[in-house]
Amino acid sequence: MPEIKIPTEFLPVDGRFGCGPSKVRPAQLAAFAAEGAKLMGTSHRQAPVKNLVKRVQEGLMELFHNPAGYEIVLGNGGSTAFWDAAAFSMVEKKAQNLVHGEFGAKFANSLTNPWLEKPTVISGEPGSRLELKAEAGVDSYAYAQNETSTGVVTPVKRVAGADAGALMFTDATSAAGGIDFDAKETDVYYFAPQKNFASDGGLWFALMSPAAIERTERIAATNRYIPEFLSVKTAIDNSRLNQTLNTPAIATLFFLAEQIDWMIANGGLAWADQQTKAASDYLYSWADAASFATPFVSNPEHRSQVVVTIDFDEAIQATEISKVLRANGIVDVDSYRKLGRNQLRVATFTATDLEDVKKLTKAIDFVVGELA
Ligand SMILES: *Cc1c(COP(=O)(O)O)cnc(C)c1O
Repeated sequence: MPEIKIPTEFLPVDGRFGCGPSKVRPAQLAAFAAEGAKLMGTSHRQAPVKNLVKRVQEGLMELFHNPAGYEIVLGNGGSTAFWDAAAFSMVEKKAQNLVHGEFGAKFANSLTNPWLEKPTVISGEPGSRLELKAEAGVDSYAYAQNETSTGVVTPVKRVAGADAGALMFTDATSAAGGIDFDAKETDVYYFAPQKNFASDGGLWFALMSPAAIERTERIAATNRYIPEFLSVKTAIDNSRLNQTLNTPAIATLFFLAEQIDWMIANGGLAWADQQTKAASDYLYSWADAASFATPFVSNPEHRSQVVVTIDFDEAIQATEISKVLRANGIVDVDSYRKLGRNQLRVATFTATDLEDVKKLTKAIDFVVGELA
């Protein structure tokens, strides 16, 4: 028995509010038991699994509004592997990185290497938002659409005045499937499926423009050393055959396919965008009104609709709140570990029910009352 027992009427139906891994819908699990399970233990070089990959690729293209000439490329290793793959395979000479937190900084680190010029890094105080700026000699601009460590959102927009042929790299790991966007405003929209797509980790996906594919093929034809696993050219070639270089997690692909179809059946990305907006608006309004809490990101326009960060009064320990919540089945609302703030962080991904978010606020109100 937990020491503080949250009344049942304040408990969400689903207590998973983590930023990845995140809530997987029961319907996805049921569909897996009924259909997906048949694919387990079968070859990824044969039609049943290749058709599953194709279903994912076609579904993502439809969800992303079918931008002409763009392709869905995939590979193993999650978004973290994609950073190194892009460093080896896609950045020509020099990048500019916009850094709003840990994830943006990690890509800047991958691009700080012996074969590229040192990137220009634009980095501010956590919780703030800055802008990429046109810079002569920069061929790659990189930023996170949603910086998951702080809950700062950045619009998907090309840098005005950038050199001809410069590519835009959007880390959409926690934004894809939860925020609507115009694909023409980016060249590489990459993500992993364990966030809004309610699947499991381990794969990366990238919506790539014709210019991004052309750049990748051009670099692959030079004498630059590129490890096979990190070759985006190899990933493109395999993706066109609905497969990956090495063995993928089949269940991950199945959960993802189910989530994409569910999004499309409900109205696509515009609908998903409304879902996450409604849930996050509710949380921000609640935090604004609460005497003991404030939204961490001070400018409302910079606040993420998929990852809500809330600071707590010094009088109350956020870690104590999350401990009690966890004992009552509400999990993973802890602040990003390296941010070091007295904070809770809540994912309002597409699968998260607004009703459950409302219950969560009631549960927190109750716990704060008990701890006071
Ligand atoms: C979660 C996350 C990552 C890391 O994804 P992995 O698949 O675990 O490598 C990268 N960028 C952002 C913005 C994220 O939210």
